[in-house]
Amino acid sequence: MNFCWSTRKDFEVSYDLFVERFPELGWKETRSTTVFANNSYGLPADEYGLIEAYCSDKDCDCRRVFLNIASRKKEEIVAVVTYGWETEAFYQKWFGGIDNEISRQVVKEMVGLGLNSASPQSKYANAALKLVEELLQDPNYVARLKRHYQMYKEKVDPKHFRKRDEASKVTAKPKRQRSR
Ligand SMILES: [Zn+2]
Repeated sequence: MNFCWSTRKDFEVSYDLFVERFPELGWKETRSTTVFANNSYGLPADEYGLIEAYCSDKDCDCRRVFLNIASRKKEEIVAVVTYGWETEAFYQKWFGGIDNEISRQVVKEMVGLGLNSASPQSKYANAALKLVEELLQDPNYVARLKRHYQMYKEKVDPKHFRKRDEASKVTAKPKRQRSR
């Protein structure tokens, strides 16, 4: 397949695209899938790309991805799906406790799969959500998303996300001894 989503500049996307930080690897590792007519999702036959975006807030370990579902034929985003892979308890802690309806709502939206309430969605959004749900059954794909999240965060926020052991490895490098 020789198709690059990066040629489309007119997408409205949420947050910050992974491919903008890692253009070469990002496009190579962007999942896309072909959906045929009369599919079980209710999507028009097309090729769909799952263009990843992550939150660029400083010191925010939200552990979720925004998947901008791009239609190749229409050249537009048909849905913005969010996927948070941690538990509800994790997001409660991340949010700093649940004390009202708003915080409960925020945490609920963080956990698992859903349509991003802050993004425009097309009439095929729910169908796209079903497609994503199926693609996330692949543990390799989920592992890839988590890896991309870590790479992205280390790049935009090295102060909080660069692993400590890696940093100490660099400083602990033994000095080369003189041979004479
Ligand atoms: Zn965040």
